[in-house]
Amino acid sequence: MMIQDNYRHKGLRKKLADGIRAKGIRNEEVLAAIEKIPRHLFLDPAFLEFAYQDQAFPIGSGQTISQPYTVAVQTELLDPQPRQKILEIGTGSGYQACVLLEMGAKVFSVERQRNLYNKAKKFLTELKYRPKLFFGDGYKGLPTFAPFDGIIITAGAPFIPEALKEQLKIGGKMIIPIGGESGQVMKVVLKTAENKFEISEHGGFSFVPMLEDKAND
Ligand code: SAH
Repeated sequence: MMIQDNYRHKGLRKKLADGIRAKGIRNEEVLAAIEKIPRHLFLDPAFLEFAYQDQAFPIGSGQTISQPYTVAVQTELLDPQPRQKILEIGTGSGYQACVLLEMGAKVFSVERQRNLYNKAKKFLTELKYRPKLFFGDGYKGLPTFAPFDGIIITAGAPFIPEALKEQLKIGGKMIIPIGGESGQVMKVVLKTAENKFEISEHGGFSFVPMLEDKAND
């Protein structure tokens, strides 16, 4: 892959970050990460003109790279602190994982589609980002590496998976869009004590579905 990032790309990224700020994102570290990460390299080169528009885009295998504004909302709600352990479900292109890395988090990310997992592993290494990537089922989380300070689910989930609640530290939070194919509500699940959770709601979104653990395509 050709890693090319020029002044034009940087200019487009600044505009993208400014646009997201104008939509209400206040966390400047989130905006700085969006301004820094070369999103055009996460898309097929033919789609350069779409890379810095604030919209979701296909990345193959029927999946999408989330809309930058959505990435910003989820990251702002998560509010990751340097060195915190964050679990992401749905690696996809790896873009969200890079935003978390830029903010200093230790990132663990799970993807259930083998080809997307392979692609992200190769590409992020080339870009010199180092999340810990896993091929597996997000409904199960990563018990070996738990507990996590934060968990972020980047696919629409039908319910809050029990294993993920267990793998959250007390005081930690999970950002999860809950709903079906027609849309989801962004929920923040704060773990206040063992088996105690406070849930708040943060608007409507539209993600690809978090799929059951079945044969991979
Ligand atoms: N965070 C991604 C966007 C991902 S789209 C990015 O920044 O590009 C949602 C992803 O979740 C898809 O790649 C899909 O394959 C994956 N996914 C769906 N169900 C899953 C599950 N049960 N476990 C892990 N990943 C899952």
